[in-house]
Amino acid sequence: MPDLPGNPNIIIDYVEPVDPRRLDFDPEDPKLSADTKEKLKKMMANYEALMGVRERLMESRLLERYALFLSAVKLPTTLRLRTKQCDELNAFYSRVDTSITLCYEYVVAFEARAPKETTPQGITKEDAIVGSIISTLLHETGHALFSIYRVPILGRGGGRRRPDRRLRDAAIREGRCADDNQGRGVEVGQPGLE
Ligand SMILES: [Zn+2]
Repeated sequence: MPDLPGNPNIIIDYVEPVDPRRLDFDPEDPKLSADTKEKLKKMMANYEALMGVRERLMESRLLERYALFLSAVKLPTTLRLRTKQCDELNAFYSRVDTSITLCYEYVVAFEARAPKETTPQGITKEDAIVGSIISTLLHETGHALFSIYRVPILGRGGGRRRPDRRLRDAAIREGRCADDNQGRGVEVGQPGLE
């Protein structure tokens, strides 16, 4: 890793996914219906999958390395870089606590759609996953910096419908990324934000 000074205003948090065992239920309870048991099994499998993603991200020191990339940015406030379970495929900036959140579910989708083998162009599975993650973090960092520095937003967004400009500018500052309110119709649950 390059010997760069860290950014003292960045806080990193790989938030643990919700452990279903912490919820108040007894999986052996004979009163549980087959349906509920099935749901619990799915929750447990989902928890283990997200824990796996969290471990891989922590091992690769993803957020620490991204924070180093941002070491030259003079932040007037704290910026939180966070990975967490969101129960949706998304990533977003929140101006409430000046945080960038990358959802584990989004990473699961990146992993699933990465090429199994190196492509003829030389792109490895790892490249595809890391590339998707970094482009997502850069996108959200754009929202964060526009919001933190109150950068005026000029011009018209893409898409055919002319969005309400104030709504659109607010959406860009807030980083509500599932649609960005730009009339492009990118929906929650659909990977591949523009
Ligand atoms: Zn966005």
